[in-house]
Amino acid sequence: MERIGFVTLLSVVLFSMTTAVSAEKMVRDYPLDQLTDHTWVIHGPKAFPSVENQGFMNNPGIVLSDAGVVVVDPGSSLYAGEMVLRMVRQITDAPVVAVFNTHVHGDHWFGNDAIHRAYPDAPIYAHPQMIADAKAGEGASWNRNLEKLTEGFTAGTSLVFPTVALNHGDEVKIGNLTFRMHHYGEGHSKTDMMIEVVEDQTVFLGDNAMVERLGGMQSGTFQGNIAVLNEVLKSEAKTWVPGHGTSGDRSVVTTYRDYLAAVYDGARYAFNEDLDSSEVKSVVAKRTTAYQAWAGYDFEMGRHANQAYLEVEASEF
Ligand SMILES: [Zn+2]
Repeated sequence: MERIGFVTLLSVVLFSMTTAVSAEKMVRDYPLDQLTDHTWVIHGPKAFPSVENQGFMNNPGIVLSDAGVVVVDPGSSLYAGEMVLRMVRQITDAPVVAVFNTHVHGDHWFGNDAIHRAYPDAPIYAHPQMIADAKAGEGASWNRNLEKLTEGFTAGTSLVFPTVALNHGDEVKIGNLTFRMHHYGEGHSKTDMMIEVVEDQTVFLGDNAMVERLGGMQSGTFQGNIAVLNEVLKSEAKTWVPGHGTSGDRSVVTTYRDYLAAVYDGARYAFNEDLDSSEVKSVVAKRTTAYQAWAGYDFEMGRHANQAYLEVEASEF
């Protein structure tokens, strides 16, 4: 009798704890920055996923057309996506009518879950390779990593995959606005889709460019990423939204491209001079001093140097 009582009491306590914890799962609000007539961006923190930032660190975009709201990359979890929806409500009561995802990395698209729960009919657009890779395991592995790095905060997020594949040059008309797709092969990853809001002369670059922050290059190549940025710079756009860091003019693109080129050229120099692969890091460090203060530099620069060295080596054979 006593034992049953204890178990019952324990279940009640556990149940209320679970309820309390899930009720507290809220990504804190971030300011909404209006960039152009129809385009707002929530500039996430530049740090890497952590307990402190609740795994949220990308730049969700909110584009207000006269047919409804379009969201680009709604963040890293169900809870980040819910925060994006709260920010949408600060500017309009209109429904979300479409979502675009820039690439396969989960910090950009796991917020699809929140949008899908609220607006199940809104199509979610991405490059076909993004959809394939996300379903083939990239989504699940990002989910595990984010959950680990946030010590469980992002848990409860369901993977909601994009529903409509788009290719380079495709244009999606939504109300008074045109969304033009840019894909130039392998850049930051093989799955990148850069999204231009034509009427606003604004481009969402995904992680093909970042500002004051470096990120992993494991899914892409240096030469590819540099080429992709040179291609997209042919656009007439005036406002550029990086995957991480503050939006701005064309220097968003050129500054990041110049970093990638400095790493690649440093690696090529080291290779041509027959320097040992262990020396490539110091060669690249000397050429990238302008980027030393960027978030992730200490961790990523050495890895970038090694990867670029292997890329140079592979291109020589
Ligand atoms: Zn990425």
